[in-house]
Amino acid sequence: MSRKSARIETQAVHAGEPQPRIGGAVVMPVFQSSTFEYGGGGGYHDLRYIRLNNTPNHFAVQEKLAALEGGEAALVTGSGMAAISTTLLTLLKPGDRLLAQRCLYGGTYDLLVGELAELGIATDFFDGDDAGAIERLKTPATRAVYVEALSNPLLEVPDLTGIARSAKAHGLVSIIDSTFASPINLRALGLGYDLVIHSCTKYLNGHSDLVAGAVVGGRERVDAITKRLNHLGGCLNPEACALLHRGMKTLALRVRAQNQGASVLAEALAKHPAVKRVHYPGLTTHPGHARARELFQGFGGMLSFELEGGLPAAEAFLGKVTIPLVAPSLGGVETLVIRPAASSHAGMGAEERARLGITDGLVRVSVGIEAPDDLIADFEHALSPG
Ligand SMILES: *Cc1c(COP(=O)(O)O)cnc(C)c1O
Repeated sequence: MSRKSARIETQAVHAGEPQPRIGGAVVMPVFQSSTFEYGGGGGYHDLRYIRLNNTPNHFAVQEKLAALEGGEAALVTGSGMAAISTTLLTLLKPGDRLLAQRCLYGGTYDLLVGELAELGIATDFFDGDDAGAIERLKTPATRAVYVEALSNPLLEVPDLTGIARSAKAHGLVSIIDSTFASPINLRALGLGYDLVIHSCTKYLNGHSDLVAGAVVGGRERVDAITKRLNHLGGCLNPEACALLHRGMKTLALRVRAQNQGASVLAEALAKHPAVKRVHYPGLTTHPGHARARELFQGFGGMLSFELEGGLPAAEAFLGKVTIPLVAPSLGGVETLVIRPAASSHAGMGAEERARLGITDGLVRVSVGIEAPDDLIADFEHALSPG
């Protein structure tokens, strides 16, 4: 069987594994060596050294990442933010402009309006529903378009197809942060995006025990980003490469269980009298449902909901649930709950949060792989009065 044509479940297990196996080992060993014997080759980037992202564990995990996204090449990085910052600092120079979706991951938003702005790289923001904004807002200095597969925490679905098409028509590099979708639910290169970014900390690793990032796309662009990363220094250690590589083998199983768990939990919450509103793209009442059906293979493991009792009810709920942990981050096997107004979106200010529809009582859920019936019973108990 040709590996390249294999389905994603098979690729998750077998892509990137060394051929022949090293010493017969079924599992890729960890090469915890900072430097390697000189093998000839003229340039600095030809030396083999962990920071240059060219040790055996980098190659193995990068090949698996490329296979899962259906890309030519992948680069693994020390965090999701390292992948985002290094990619943008490769594509943009002082004087250039970026077009970015308005509602972005907090760290990314701060990078755009903080460090990149200080370097003379300005960002123009547009609404993810409005692909026509690219044509309207584009200037001769605009180089790239940046979006996220699903918005946090309201799980809005941008017009991903229209945005990719418009970027291409205007000669702009299109970048998508596909962390919330994972390659199981969205193959973004197939939609026309040039580069797909992940915080591998989340679904790709799936076990909440490391921080890593990745960028996947055409060979030439990924090589350029690699050279920039070699200088900026945001490499991933081989041991973390190996942990990520292991986590990715069960990606399809985990994400499908999470899709299923989130979907039945969203339905149960939508029927509950203490719940005012549930944000989950799998619900037919969600404004992005039709688009999500078209774009995604699954509706994902993330949802958020508002309580009739507002902030006090949300705090009572978080104090009463027993299975989920109250913690930031997402995509792990354990269910996590958090109030975005007090965590990821705290820095935003109450007015901007209200404008976006992020109420103080909103609870975000990253659904794990526990039995959905146990989760529903625990949520219902925590929502009951007294
Ligand atoms: C967590 C996250 C990031 C940042 O990733 P780190 O691995 O924490 O650096 C970027 N984008 C999205 C959508 C995220 O959820």
